[in-house]
Amino acid sequence: MYVDSHCHLSFPELQGRLAEIRAEMAAAQVDRALCICTTLEEFDAVHALATGYDNFWCSAGVHPDSEAVREPSVEDLLALAARPRVVAIGETGLDYYRLDGRSEAEMEWQRERFRVHIRAARAAGLPLVIHTRSASADTLRLLREEGGAAAGGVFHCFTETMAVAHAALDLGFHVSFSGILTFKTAHALREVARSVPLERCLIETDSPYLAPVPHRGKVNSPAYVPWVARQLAELKGVSVEEVAERTSRNFERLFLQPAARRPGGVETGSTSGGA
Ligand SMILES: [Zn+2]
Ligand SMILES: [Zn+2]
Repeated sequence: MYVDSHCHLSFPELQGRLAEIRAEMAAAQVDRALCICTTLEEFDAVHALATGYDNFWCSAGVHPDSEAVREPSVEDLLALAARPRVVAIGETGLDYYRLDGRSEAEMEWQRERFRVHIRAARAAGLPLVIHTRSASADTLRLLREEGGAAAGGVFHCFTETMAVAHAALDLGFHVSFSGILTFKTAHALREVARSVPLERCLIETDSPYLAPVPHRGKVNSPAYVPWVARQLAELKGVSVEEVAERTSRNFERLFLQPAARRPGGVETGSTSGGA
């Protein structure tokens, strides 16, 4: 049984297809999914999925690319975090990929928004779902400045370098791989995946985007997450069943266990080597 640790079922591409998607998930042995929130305005739709189905959970947060939306305060996020079946804060982070002519200095609003999420995650005792693109140095700096390691969480849809992966691991974070891992040109990312210990790996679709090979270019859905697991298994030299099992346990430990039973939200010990 597989878990999709990051999907957007309330996005227009997937909206209205829920019965079909759930049937496809069951057929593909994908038994659980985490539905990710990207704006406060979207929260009710995402939360309805998590409360409507016992194999869905959701997050609360505002994506760094979301502009012209309501800006969250720590109090806003804490109020949502207290709702049933909300198991993470995010997705949050930094994205300097689409600056649209602005300088990184002008993105202070993104950095402030990210700080608010880290503070909320610490106060709520929930893990962070982190989005970082073309902004890894600032992402890591803000996590350190705000004590993000106390919340822990995951760097989702990982596409950064080996050095960034190990910095994330050293902060106690998990690393999640998406369909990008299966793309023909993703050689460097496959090397990163080889070096991330399996006990810190998660798998995801980030659907409706980034469908894995052999479905590349189509609308993605949680039912395709086994293709990511298959690629990861090949890189690790283990069976796909083992990847399914281990990433499911990691998901449970990170998102479904009460914070008090997560070791401070942070795992200690070596992050180098291992499976
Ligand atoms: Zn993202
Ligand atoms: Zn996402």
